[in-house]
Amino acid sequence: MKETQLQKKIVDWAKKRPLCWNFKTHGGGYTQAGIPDVVGNVGPLALYLECKVGTNKPSPIQTVTIRKIRESGAVAGCVWTFEDAVAVVEKLEGFVSELDADFLRRLDLASPSMIRCLAVDSKG
Ligand SMILES: [Mg+2]
Repeated sequence: MKETQLQKKIVDWAKKRPLCWNFKTHGGGYTQAGIPDVVGNVGPLALYLECKVGTNKPSPIQTVTIRKIRESGAVAGCVWTFEDAVAVVEKLEGFVSELDADFLRRLDLASPSMIRCLAVDSKG
């Protein structure tokens, strides 16, 4: 399987998961170097997956970027197979399903930027 096929398989699968949103492939000539190939979120958790196939390994800039993303609190890592990605997403789904609904509401409203977004939304 080529890396682009692995990316597409992950994105296509994630788009059918109720807690997964906005899964897409990142890349191309005009995007920031090192950002993992697949980005999306599982509930409130941002997920970044660098896809590799065979014996390929993440480049130095990809490794640094993954570390920076992790330091920001999001989930990031490298997957070599579709099954790797499924395992990560299902684990995150498990965490999210254990989160208390009231916690999620407070998480939304505690963020100043979210409040600004809601204010913009309400103006239509
Ligand atoms: Mg890749």
